[in-house]
Amino acid sequence: MDRTVIKYRHCERDIYSFSCSRYSCTQKTDDVDRSGCPICHQTLSFGVLDAPVALTCPFMNAHQVPCAFVIGSVHGPSYLGEWHDTEIHVGVSNSGGLVYNYTLSGVQRDDRGWEQCVCVQLVPPWRHDLRESWDRQLEEFSALPQWVSERFDEEREFGSCCYGFALTFINRMRSLDGKVSLSRDEFTGSYILPRMKTVSKYIKIYHTILQHGFYKLDST
Ligand SMILES: [Zn+2]
Repeated sequence: MDRTVIKYRHCERDIYSFSCSRYSCTQKTDDVDRSGCPICHQTLSFGVLDAPVALTCPFMNAHQVPCAFVIGSVHGPSYLGEWHDTEIHVGVSNSGGLVYNYTLSGVQRDDRGWEQCVCVQLVPPWRHDLRESWDRQLEEFSALPQWVSERFDEEREFGSCCYGFALTFINRMRSLDGKVSLSRDEFTGSYILPRMKTVSKYIKIYHTILQHGFYKLDST
């Protein structure tokens, strides 16, 4: 999912398509002009204030996002649209972009493989104190007997596994910061689901453009 999605208005609809990602960005508008509106087939001419806008891609390289909650899928970002999909795997990045994640083989420290993920930054950039203790705490936490490989199935019964590992660490850091712990539902509802809604929408738009060349939204 590496093409840029752009949005513009025509025929009283919001229309989404790919920009000419293979050319330079300055030709973006020319490219749309040439193809015309996919609904009325008229040549598009954009004036002041109606230039196409690029959609922000919701996927980031987790190895470049320090101290984050990271959501990925081994099958690629397209699979992140369905939150309950069992293929989703989560972890926590340290300040150097290593992604700590709990698997059948115990805690892994990955320096690759999380290049197209949803990343929720957990620490404000100005909290140097938290950032400094983060890596040490994450390393100590990962070494706890709770996260040995033999207990993976046991954890699964409680719906934990990788998600439980990440959330338990977040709560540990919150308690060191004098904050109350969050339940799984609180964390998911407040921090994850709103983000995944945007991601699902982006994936739907992207795949529709792949199939039909464009995506349209009828509401005004
Ligand atoms: Zn049109």
